[in-house]
Amino acid sequence: MLEYGDMQIGLDTSVPWGPTLLSHSHADHTRSIHHAREIIATKGTIDTLSARGGRVNGKVTLADTGSTIFYDDILITVLNAGHVLGSSMFLIELADNQRVLYTGDFNTVDSLVHARATPIEADVLIMDSTYGSPDWVFPSRERVYGDIIKTAQKCLDEGKFPRFHAYSLGKAQEAIALLHNEGFDVVTGNKSIDRVSHVYNRHGLNLVYNPLDSRTTRQLFERGCVVVSSSNRHTFYNLSRLMGPRFARHIEDLSVDYNLSGWTLSQYGNGGLPLSAHTDYPGLIDFAKKVNPVITYCFTENGHVLAEALSQEGIVAVPLE
Ligand SMILES: [Zn+2]
Repeated sequence: MLEYGDMQIGLDTSVPWGPTLLSHSHADHTRSIHHAREIIATKGTIDTLSARGGRVNGKVTLADTGSTIFYDDILITVLNAGHVLGSSMFLIELADNQRVLYTGDFNTVDSLVHARATPIEADVLIMDSTYGSPDWVFPSRERVYGDIIKTAQKCLDEGKFPRFHAYSLGKAQEAIALLHNEGFDVVTGNKSIDRVSHVYNRHGLNLVYNPLDSRTTRQLFERGCVVVSSSNRHTFYNLSRLMGPRFARHIEDLSVDYNLSGWTLSQYGNGGLPLSAHTDYPGLIDFAKKVNPVITYCFTENGHVLAEALSQEGIVAVPLE
């Protein structure tokens, strides 16, 4: 929560009065959102929230990326965060001209489906520090994409089914876009992925995938296809329900699992495919330098490591824990 005089602004949290700025609709940012009395968010965030079963009870003010909203005597500008569809950073300009930038989760690297976040100068920076320790330096996205494609092809050549595990919002859509563009038939293993992908397509993307319950699924498995799943258990259960337990067991036995996540970095080259929706450590340091803040607050578990590193770079920084 940002408190300024009588004003309270909730940053991905509800506040008793004042607005809530909702950066995106991943569950760890929406837990208290149903208590919020007023929410400011992009249409992409509200649509993906609804597709994932989230609900809001308060007033919703939709704001386009790049637009500025006047709230009492505060200016709130919505900036692209590059993390998932609709994800936003918020620049809050207070009455005394102080500028506060809240990043939410953000990514400074372009992906096939999300444009990268770019820094903007502010006096106070409140930044995501998920990968905020020196261990987290990601290979280029092109290299990770190349490895995902090679992995899929190798699996199919061996008569197996590559099953890419990805969050249903953001990473799954990136995987679908990549694999389809490379000529693979993509079967999605979960309704949650289908619902979110449908929202992406309504927002102008052209994701091509085959839901598990489509008529062609059996044929695709017989021909060789890749699976994108956010829950292997649900994928197996649904396949069993739709095609019978014998067929589901056959597919299960031939499936090889890969996790598309920054957290797999330590297994890179050994099955890990570190596709991240967050900025890596060098990217975070570079971002903070460009924002050029008087003070930085680092949130999430690596906050204290990043704050220490930023302090060594001459940026006053403290962890929010
Ligand atoms: Zn997120």
